[in-house]
Amino acid sequence: MSKAIISQLKGIVGEQYVIESPDEMAKYLKGSGKPVAVVLPGNTAEVSAVVKWANEQNITITVAGQVADFKDLNKGIVLIMARMNQVLDIDHQNLVFVVEPGILHQELLEKVIEAGLDFPPEPYEVETSSIGGCFAIGDSDSKSFQFGPTRTFLLGFEMVLPTGEIMEIGNKCIKNVSGYDFIHFAVGSQGTFGIFTKLFLKLLPKPEAKKAVIARFASVHKANAAFSTLIKRNIHPTRLNLLNNSLAQAILPGEGQLVMVDLEGFTESSKTMANEISAVMTLGGASDVKIVEDAGEYENLINGWLKVRSIVKGNPDNLLEFAVGPLKMGQALTQLEGLIGDLGAYPGLVVEGLLGYVNLILPEGTDKGALAVKINKLAMSLGGNVCGLLGIKLRSESYNDTDMWSETTGLLNELRSQFDPKGILNPGVSLKA
Ligand SMILES: Cc1cc2nc3c(=O)[nH]c(=O)nc-3n(C[C@H](O)[C@H](O)[C@H](O)COP(=O)(O)OP(=O)(O)OC[C@H]3O[C@@H](n4cnc5c(N)ncnc54)[C@H](O)[C@@H]3O)c2cc1C
Repeated sequence: MSKAIISQLKGIVGEQYVIESPDEMAKYLKGSGKPVAVVLPGNTAEVSAVVKWANEQNITITVAGQVADFKDLNKGIVLIMARMNQVLDIDHQNLVFVVEPGILHQELLEKVIEAGLDFPPEPYEVETSSIGGCFAIGDSDSKSFQFGPTRTFLLGFEMVLPTGEIMEIGNKCIKNVSGYDFIHFAVGSQGTFGIFTKLFLKLLPKPEAKKAVIARFASVHKANAAFSTLIKRNIHPTRLNLLNNSLAQAILPGEGQLVMVDLEGFTESSKTMANEISAVMTLGGASDVKIVEDAGEYENLINGWLKVRSIVKGNPDNLLEFAVGPLKMGQALTQLEGLIGDLGAYPGLVVEGLLGYVNLILPEGTDKGALAVKINKLAMSLGGNVCGLLGIKLRSESYNDTDMWSETTGLLNELRSQFDPKGILNPGVSLKA
């Protein structure tokens, strides 16, 4: 890229916010891609001007919160949203925060707690995930049963479209959509429809009480049977999670599979629920059943859970995920054991009981593709499938229905090209992955 072009970019965002040196750029990049420059815009007008400029020059843009994690960055620039990290409005009456997209989840949470409010979504990397990234991905987590996935907490946004135009949609009201719901359709579009520059977040009142119940089970199946009993008795806590023996050692060393139940709500109701849950666990054969009420101990437990989630998700090459819903989980675990052997001794197994969702850390040398197809067949026979886009692809592979797969991706790609005719934004995001 010529010096003239770099100086045009510097003219838009300021000299110090266009980074060209490979050493400096490395702070903002993961993987082997080498973009021409990393650009840090400071406001919406600058984002819009950069995107318009990129259109004129036919230069691609890859967007990221803090660090761009794409393999092919070589042809374009990387836009890092980290400077746009302010809370613009705290509205106690409407329980709404208006924020810029570069604010980190952890920083946002601190401000939300300071305001006496709550923001339940919980990406697995709370310290490094930007809020813009969370909504661009459309995260969900083990609290999603009670609170809904991340998208539930978006009331509106400002977005710079791939042409550079600025679109505003939604407001502080809960009832602000009739007809097509573009607000939530944009969630999960991974920066292919546009760049979030402002987000209207719906918050909740801070829970009055937080408690947990922990227990140990000799087998994964017994622990899951206790989960089914709770659900059949209409006891739905905030989180209902199981870590197999191998993984539990990273959080709370001890014998057996670890069950962690989290309760966020009112003091009296959470106390009653904690007692019922601990009785069900004990009757189900658990040992070391304990109600955790101490705030410090509770926090350590949740931090331990976040640490484990980060270990599990930190290596996508060794990870398989599938969902069958809560009440088919017993059958799924029995069949899974037939495929992979002793579930307690497997390198890692997490069951998010309320979602009926499993994460598996695979042993070194596993043929992931072959196992994924088998697990997908297993999950599909129980009404679920492996998760994410890969899930759709494997579903079509399991049926040998490649037409279905290409039809779906064809439609989505057509829509994408309506938004981004020149293919400027996030070329590394592919529906074929
Ligand atoms: C396919 C996929 C599914 C995932 N599912 C989950 C999940 O269910 N639960 C979970 O906890 N984590 C999930 N993750 C991890 C997720 O990326 C992080 O939890 C978090 O959302 C990332 O935040 P970040 O700031 O690091 O995002 P980045 O890695 O910087 O960006 C993530 C994506 O969002 C885009 N993006 C970033 N900022 C903006 C913006 N301002 N406007 C528009 N687009 C932007 C990027 O281009 C990229 O496509 C998933 C990741 C991927 C790739």
